[in-house]
Amino acid sequence: MLYIKHNMIDNIILIPYRNREAHLDYFIKNTVPLFKEHLPNSKVVIIEQTEGKLFNRGMLLNVGFKEYENKTKYFFTHDVDINPTFKCVNEFYKLGVQDTDVLGIYTSQCNTLGGIIKITNDTIHKINGFPNDIWGWGVEDKALQNRAEFFNINKITLLTNKMEHPEYILRFNDTDDRERHNLPYNTQKHYTTFQRLNNEEKNKEVLSSGLNNLEYEVINKKSINDMVEVIKVEI
Ligand code: UDP
Ligand code: MN
Repeated sequence: MLYIKHNMIDNIILIPYRNREAHLDYFIKNTVPLFKEHLPNSKVVIIEQTEGKLFNRGMLLNVGFKEYENKTKYFFTHDVDINPTFKCVNEFYKLGVQDTDVLGIYTSQCNTLGGIIKITNDTIHKINGFPNDIWGWGVEDKALQNRAEFFNINKITLLTNKMEHPEYILRFNDTDDRERHNLPYNTQKHYTTFQRLNNEEKNKEVLSSGLNNLEYEVINKKSINDMVEVIKVEI
């Protein structure tokens, strides 16, 4: 018990990633130093997907939850193109979060759990993480929101993308590589259909795909510096 406590990390910041080198460079040069100074005993873990399949943001984040399960109290899911200011880190990143809540530090105005969220290890396991079958752009953030609601996890929203918050967030929005052809199918399955299910069916759906049946292969792990690790995975 003592041994486990001694090795606990306060925050694991997970970044799903592939082919966004300029954004990653900016993040490592400008944002990681803020974390280093103001979020002690924390780690940034970049989960990088190999080439070949469509990007799967939810599944990459699931890999991060799995790799660090029971090694941290808090997980952040963090897009690589969203950079908090010192004010944002200082006021929001250090807030405590209960198992009944998830903190939406910077999310979509469409009531989803994308962008930057802070969630406890217990909660993310309780809701079984993201579904593993959302390939291509979109909807995994809504699927996580649906799961949280189903388990009565309450979202505390701090900032949304409805307007600019230059004092809190620097966001790059210049990437147009979204692969949308699965979006109608994914939206139907994980949004429209899910919301119409009864509780028993929802429970079954949540258990059908997520942390409980995640499969992946770690290709390579390397440290960029004493705070940042890159885990390359085949999913
Ligand atoms: N992402 C990535 N490579 C991709 C697609 C997405 O690294 O090809 C990661 C990256 O962290 C990005 C996040 O997934 O910030 C969300 O994707 P994107 O920024 O395109 O979504 P949007 O901001 O439009 O919701
Ligand atoms: Mn983005």
